[in-house]
Amino acid sequence: MGDCIFCKIAQKEIPSSAVYEDDRILCFHDLEPQAPVHVLIIPKKHIESLDAVTDEDRDLLGYIMTKVKDIAQELGLENGYRLVNNCGEDGFQTVKHLHFHLLGKRKMTWPPG
Ligand code: 5GP
Ligand code: ZN
Repeated sequence: MGDCIFCKIAQKEIPSSAVYEDDRILCFHDLEPQAPVHVLIIPKKHIESLDAVTDEDRDLLGYIMTKVKDIAQELGLENGYRLVNNCGEDGFQTVKHLHFHLLGKRKMTWPPG
C-alpha cells in the first residue's frame, strides 16, 4: 500500500487530471488513453483487485457502479461506453489498486484481445 501509485494519486502526492472526486472515489484521465475518452475510476480505499473485495466493500462497489453513469454523462458519452476491470495476471492488471476503466467516444469491438 505504501508504494501504491493510485493511493498516491488519491492522496495528491502524484498529480492527476481529475474528472470527479468525492470522499470515497476519484476519477481521473488515464496516462495512456486507449480511446478518445479514457478515465479510471478508483476507490480511495486501497483494495488490491476485484479478487480482494470483501463483504465490507459491498456498499463501496455499489456506489462506484451508480456513479459510472453520472461520470459518463459528464464526459459526453451519451452514445455509450465501455467499463473494464482487469483483474490479476491473466486479466492484464498492471496497477494493483482496484480500478475501472471507462472508455468512450469510439466504436468498441468484441471480443477484446
Ligand atoms: P491496468 O492495466 O492495471 O488495468 O490499468 C492501469 C492503467 O493505469 C493503465 O491504463 C495505465 O495507463 C494507467 N496508469 C498507470 N500509471 C498511471 C499514472 O501515474 N497516472 C495515470 N493517470 N494513469 C496511470
Ligand atoms: Zn492503493
